[in-house]
Amino acid sequence: MSLDLDKRQRAMLREMGVRLWQPPPAAGSADAPPAIDSVADNARLTGAETRFVAEPAQPPAAASMPAVRPPQVAPAPAARAPAPSAPAPGLAPRPAGIELMAWPALQAAVAGCRACALCASRKNTVFGAGPEAGASAPVVDWLIVGEAPGENEDLAGEPFVGQAGKLLDNMLLAMRLQRGNADALRPGLANHVFITNVLKCRPPANRNPDPAEVAQCEPYLKRQVELLQPKMILALGKFAAQSLLQDSVPDVQKIPLGKLRGQLHSYLGVPVVVTYHPAYLLRSLGDKAKAWDDLCLALSAFKS
Ligand code: SF4
Repeated sequence: MSLDLDKRQRAMLREMGVRLWQPPPAAGSADAPPAIDSVADNARLTGAETRFVAEPAQPPAAASMPAVRPPQVAPAPAARAPAPSAPAPGLAPRPAGIELMAWPALQAAVAGCRACALCASRKNTVFGAGPEAGASAPVVDWLIVGEAPGENEDLAGEPFVGQAGKLLDNMLLAMRLQRGNADALRPGLANHVFITNVLKCRPPANRNPDPAEVAQCEPYLKRQVELLQPKMILALGKFAAQSLLQDSVPDVQKIPLGKLRGQLHSYLGVPVVVTYHPAYLLRSLGDKAKAWDDLCLALSAFKS
């Protein structure tokens, strides 16, 4: 898949704080855009078209995509530890048969779940957002996994609303993706993306998820992945990365997020790319270019 960035995408990337290099205007061309910096701020090249090539079978010229590092395959997954037979103290049993549920049943199970203490303070569960689904899971290529609902998400029952949600939408738009139903799609965009979180309920005061809560909620995410069968997963932030990679990356809890970036991981056989959470990027503008590098890595490894 080739990605020629149009004016709108360039505007979105500027809003993300990502500056793109593009060639200087041809002699005599009145409307050619001015040359600007490269994605990674570490290379300035000349004489090449700014172009993104997503399929490994059509690798980009070295000068055309300087910020994309070659994918490195993470070590093979280790054997999965058996699930505990009984919930930890303070937790309640989950609904039975999550691993066999169809999409509507899974949605209903999450909506009624009281398997951890977060159910007491939530306003709404946040199952996820994507194309309209019927009896089957929506058809998507991409799965975006964040950490947990915040205050706005808890009120709306939707993932990634507010400023972090706007930034995520801009990141998706730069990838020619748009969340929601097909009837609201902008021209040239696809809605083959589902957005969810590790936790389906908001931790009070936006505290970090507790490991026991993550473990208790994990079967819902696992079943979502099984039913959605995405071609690529983007893990946003530390908790998403740790939850998805706990069985494939030894001691993942001890590894800084930055060291999990820049390589292809795997969850249930689906490629996983780790990047920063949009809420973090709102506070750390200097890392937006790194996030764009991660999106380029995911796009380059994506197989349509
Ligand atoms: S966070 Fe997950 S396990 Fe806890 S109540 Fe909500 S849906 Fe259930």
